[in-house]
Amino acid sequence: MGKYTSNTLQIYNTLSGKKEVFNPINKGAIGMYVCGPTVYSNVHLGNVRTFMSFDMIFRYFNHLGYKVRYVRNITDAGHLENDADQGEDRIAKKARLEQIEPMEVVQRYTVDFHNILNTFNFLPPSIEPTATGHIVEQIEIIKSILDKGLAYEANGSIYFDVLKYNESHHYGILSGRNIEDLIHNTRVLDGQSDKKNPQDFALWKKAEPQHIMRWTSPWSDGFPGWHLECTAMSTKYLGENFDIHGGGMDLKFPHHECEIAQAKAWHNHKPVNYWMHANMLTLNGQKMAKSTGNNILPAEILNGNTDKLTKGFSPSVVRFFMMQAHYRSILDFSNDALLASEKGFLKLMEAVTSLSKIEATEVVNDFDVIKWKSNCYAAMNDDFNTPILIAELFSAVKYINQIKDNKASINTSSLAVLTKTMQQFVFDVLGLKNATSNDQNSKLGETVGLLIKMRNDARAQKDFALSDQIRNELIKIGIQLKDGKDGTTFILD
Ligand code: AMP
Ligand code: ZN
Repeated sequence: MGKYTSNTLQIYNTLSGKKEVFNPINKGAIGMYVCGPTVYSNVHLGNVRTFMSFDMIFRYFNHLGYKVRYVRNITDAGHLENDADQGEDRIAKKARLEQIEPMEVVQRYTVDFHNILNTFNFLPPSIEPTATGHIVEQIEIIKSILDKGLAYEANGSIYFDVLKYNESHHYGILSGRNIEDLIHNTRVLDGQSDKKNPQDFALWKKAEPQHIMRWTSPWSDGFPGWHLECTAMSTKYLGENFDIHGGGMDLKFPHHECEIAQAKAWHNHKPVNYWMHANMLTLNGQKMAKSTGNNILPAEILNGNTDKLTKGFSPSVVRFFMMQAHYRSILDFSNDALLASEKGFLKLMEAVTSLSKIEATEVVNDFDVIKWKSNCYAAMNDDFNTPILIAELFSAVKYINQIKDNKASINTSSLAVLTKTMQQFVFDVLGLKNATSNDQNSKLGETVGLLIKMRNDARAQKDFALSDQIRNELIKIGIQLKDGKDGTTFILD
């Protein structure tokens, strides 16, 4: 394990509201659970941001040498339209509207989710369990909570008794919500509810006759409540007490608050040591969301086929854009911000490419590479501060460009450290890909190289119509030419 693992990493814990030194339960190993998508429609870029934040965190832990078990579930049942246990199951509704099987909905959008994550260069989690694959475990937890007297049955459904639980525990411990406020502010339920109190939440719901997604239980043919699946799956794969639980900020309440309540009611101790919440991606200042239509789909940002963008952007530019913000800050999406990120990304990639061509000289360095490296770790160890890390990377970019212009020099050992550290942070930790390709061995590189040569010939003969045509036709198929001091290179969109 690297020397940087030794107690220097600080994580902002939503539970305490402050940064804490990270101490895993088992030395050298980390258990991390992140709430996955509800697979009833295409993921939008907001969803991608949250998962990307945790991908970066997973990558950094891996880089530090931890053995990480990263569990990210697929919600394929139980998530109702309204988080207060009302409305239709989201997947069942989609299946009804499209007249297909719920499992077809699940299959379609799980595949879509995986494809998108692949496109954006995500590492796969260690385990990706589904809610429907853990019905038995969920029923067992309900039985135990019923035995403890902290849940009750009503017409075949089981509800968690929040007020009773709050007599001996603290409901609101994570979200800071006050039970009195909750009582006053929760809408009085319509006559159809079986709940004793509106703040109670479903552990099991009896299915209506037309509801297709149903399982047998001691209480009724029905389906589990949304919050329960995460308690079941996180406990099964990570234990009753594990290191990190993450998700988007909007899951803090009620989802994660309910997870804590369920776990404590079940086994009487806190399930999670560090709760981490990633902040939202907004569009025009409003949260991107499926329900409001205020969102951008990954395909739209890649092909630029939306009136919100003037062009498409490569997956690594999108990743770079997201990494330029701290995971706990709100990030607003805009065409201008993407264009600025693209510039920065290209500058970074050019420097990484230049670095491989730089020759060391046995001189005094003009830049303290060792100090710089430790600054990079300090940024990441400060609650995964990727914007500061990127600022550090750019001080290296400046230095690399000075060396290239013969205005600075570097010795052999520093060059080795600089090259390795840049590679590790840019590619392994931030997960960027150098889509610029000057690789003369690749067929694509050779082909585009040929077209670049034809374009240069056309320009030399002042045939600008042809040279523009070559450039524009390449853009159409996602290849962007870039003219620089050292000739023309290209990036893949
Ligand atoms: P869902 O499929 O709706 O349960 O959402 C999957 C994940 O995306 C959850 O962790 C949400 O918190 C997260 N999420 C939803 N909307 C946004 C957004 N606009 N920005 C960032 N994350 C989001
Ligand atoms: Zn969850």
